Amino acid sequence: MRYISTRGNVEPKGFIDTVLMGLADDGGLMVPSEIPVVSAATLEEWRSLSYQELFLKIFAYYTNDEIPLEDLQEMVNTSYGNFRTPEVTPIHQVNDSLYVLELFHGPTFAFKDVALQFMGELYSYISKKQNKIIHILGATSGDTGAAAIQGVRGKEGIKICILHPHGKVSKVQELQMTTVDDSNVLNLSVHGNFDDCQKVIKDLFADLDFKSRYHLRAINSINFVRILAQTVYYFYAYLHVDGSSEKKINISVPSGNFGNIFSGYLAKQMGLPINKLIIATNENNILERFVNTGEYKPGSFTSTYSPSMDIQVASNFERYLYYLVGEDSEKLSAYMSKLQTEGKITVEGEALQQVQKDFAALGVKNDQCLNTIAKYQKEYSYLLDPHTACGIAAYEAFNGSDEIGITFATAHPAKFDEAITLIDIKQEFPAQIKALFEMPQHQTVVDHDKDEIVRQLQAFYK
Ligand SMILES: *Cc1c(COP(=O)(O)O)cnc(C)c1O
Repeated sequence: MRYISTRGNVEPKGFIDTVLMGLADDGGLMVPSEIPVVSAATLEEWRSLSYQELFLKIFAYYTNDEIPLEDLQEMVNTSYGNFRTPEVTPIHQVNDSLYVLELFHGPTFAFKDVALQFMGELYSYISKKQNKIIHILGATSGDTGAAAIQGVRGKEGIKICILHPHGKVSKVQELQMTTVDDSNVLNLSVHGNFDDCQKVIKDLFADLDFKSRYHLRAINSINFVRILAQTVYYFYAYLHVDGSSEKKINISVPSGNFGNIFSGYLAKQMGLPINKLIIATNENNILERFVNTGEYKPGSFTSTYSPSMDIQVASNFERYLYYLVGEDSEKLSAYMSKLQTEGKITVEGEALQQVQKDFAALGVKNDQCLNTIAKYQKEYSYLLDPHTACGIAAYEAFNGSDEIGITFATAHPAKFDEAITLIDIKQEFPAQIKALFEMPQHQTVVDHDKDEIVRQLQAFYK
């Protein structure tokens, strides 16, 4: 398997070089040169596999033997050994038609742990094997940063700097990042919003000289290995929900950067027979508008109860667009420069029909989000975090009467207590989260100013 850029101007690469490259050198995103297809018979055989075994089967299609199986196995076991449940991503049945895949049993209580625990192990492995300096740089709306820091804290040969929007992440998210005192971790708290932070990071990664001088590596979902690690739980969920039923299975995914849902798209292209892929967003509903009208146009930014989805520019959208235009790099590049110059992209006709075949989408309003949390607490004694609540509201909107819906729970409710207290629900925090409130914080507050951020990075990575 080789990997190429959506923009078509990168020589084909192997798996490890693709991981190290992150954002493609031509400004595009790396994708597999062709998507492997898993046969229905193989899928059946996979039903009995553990999460870890399934992971190895799926990665085998992508790693080209660049990593010996025993090494990969060890990394996978270490990564998922850090989860609080042996199933890694357990399935909770809510009622006859709704299942929730709980993705929040990792160290930071959000779905990002699933990919980033592995990615931390992988970076550490590459650093040792190839004697490479790894300096991770990333932006976060809260959960990525916490999970990435937990994935690499204290690891030799790796330094990590994470930018987060000052005061715009939840208290627990802030504490999870800033209470880490390992010297290989730097938290920059930026006056601005998430898109501002992401823009600085994108500019720095686009500066190839800067990127190579400081050995910069990405942890954002622009990195293909994150996408791939996330496909595993789509297979896991599909194969573990009522295997005997003939019913169609829909999957609803709380979405921001289009990373998680793109993993679902990839799983479907690999042959997993998911019926509808449902994109759940909040009032920042660029993806809903795109699916409904064909216009992809970043609008104004709104702060909501589900801050990890407060995103206007969805980085992974380019990957999907690439497949939508028939893997035509020239067409894709033309679209992306149009987005730069005109501030929007429009798809019409057959392409729009294809989009509507691939996805359904709903932007869930703040009050609908809270109502959904209250309803499921009352009817099922099951407490949803606000992101998951958006997912459930979208499931309710699109799930057909004779269909099964799996909604991904992307965070534990304790992470977003601010919203939950608004509807007078009191929750007991897990001990690991309670402990954070007693610990000292380490962070540097900076202006939204690229030069100042660069000076901080130069001092940290030297
Ligand atoms: C990151 C995150 C999302 C959005 O995921 P994307 O891959 O960016 O679409 C949704 N919910 C939670 C809790 C998150 O942390």
